Amino acid sequence: MCVFTNSLFSSSKVIKIKGMISEAPLQQLHDPLFEEHEVKLWVKREDMLHPHISGNKWRKLKYNLQEAKQQGKATLLTFGGAYSNHIAAVAAAGKEFGFTTIGMIRGEEHLPLNPTLDFATSCGMDLHYVDREKYRQKQELTFLQHLAEQFNHPYIIPEGGTNVLAVKGCTEIVQDINIDYNYLCCTSGTGGTIAGIIAGLEGQKQVIGFPALKGGEFLKEEIAQLVQAYNGGSYSNWQLITDYHFGGYAKVKPELLEFMHNFQKHYQVPLEPVYTGKMMFGIYDLIRKGFFPSGSRVVAVHTGGLQGNAGFKERLGVVV
Ligand SMILES: *Cc1c(COP(=O)(O)O)cnc(C)c1O
Repeated sequence: MCVFTNSLFSSSKVIKIKGMISEAPLQQLHDPLFEEHEVKLWVKREDMLHPHISGNKWRKLKYNLQEAKQQGKATLLTFGGAYSNHIAAVAAAGKEFGFTTIGMIRGEEHLPLNPTLDFATSCGMDLHYVDREKYRQKQELTFLQHLAEQFNHPYIIPEGGTNVLAVKGCTEIVQDINIDYNYLCCTSGTGGTIAGIIAGLEGQKQVIGFPALKGGEFLKEEIAQLVQAYNGGSYSNWQLITDYHFGGYAKVKPELLEFMHNFQKHYQVPLEPVYTGKMMFGIYDLIRKGFFPSGSRVVAVHTGGLQGNAGFKERLGVVV
């Protein structure tokens, strides 16, 4: 259920909302494997920032919400799949900050609504279904103009929330890390989050991205462009590791679920199988293979997304 008791929005630089913690904690993980390879690992718990506007989705929305307010917009319109963490976050943020929200959902309506869309609706989001062919036009100007007219000129946020203001918000993920480290790991969908991390680090440290999609190489160009669009910079201290997609976006394999199960039991850190589960699996595997030189200090960003687990459970009968 979407329950908020208070709606606070100030146009000042500091945006605070009830239930939000100001800094995502860093949690060190301990494992004999790490000792063997002389590697230290921390998780940056962005998932703990807020119960509903979680992880990187809050970072990506923050300056967009501010911009929408400044433009005097009353409505946010965005796009996503039926299990989208971004859709859930926009619905919750709209409720929190006093915007009406419209979700353009890829595919057909299925009733009863899945947990993600049920949550979005309970926050007041108005859902519209777009067939897959039409949905592909979501970035085309004529399609967006048409939507703008149809819905009385809302503030339009792209799929996954990724734009230059989202990159700006994600630079704050690294500003918040107050320990010494050399590697920062992050999972990628559209690449907006890692673009912000790369821009925020300004060439320092090594950034490793784990695409959640199969064939994630295409993201390289997009990430570089996002960084460029944000601060004009071009950096070489980052790479994508494309081996841990487990068959593709939102696809799972038994060894992934087993890893997640053990991880959660051991650390009490919840993961989800679309993004953070695959990244953590990848990090463990890389440590095992000696990828990180001895003495490495690695920070893994937990980007949240835990709302998606309810949908997974429902679809696959998989408890994650
Ligand atoms: C949306 C999402 C991502 C992907 O972020 P991008 O900025 O699109 O790369 C990663 N992790 C989680 C948990 C997400 O919900």
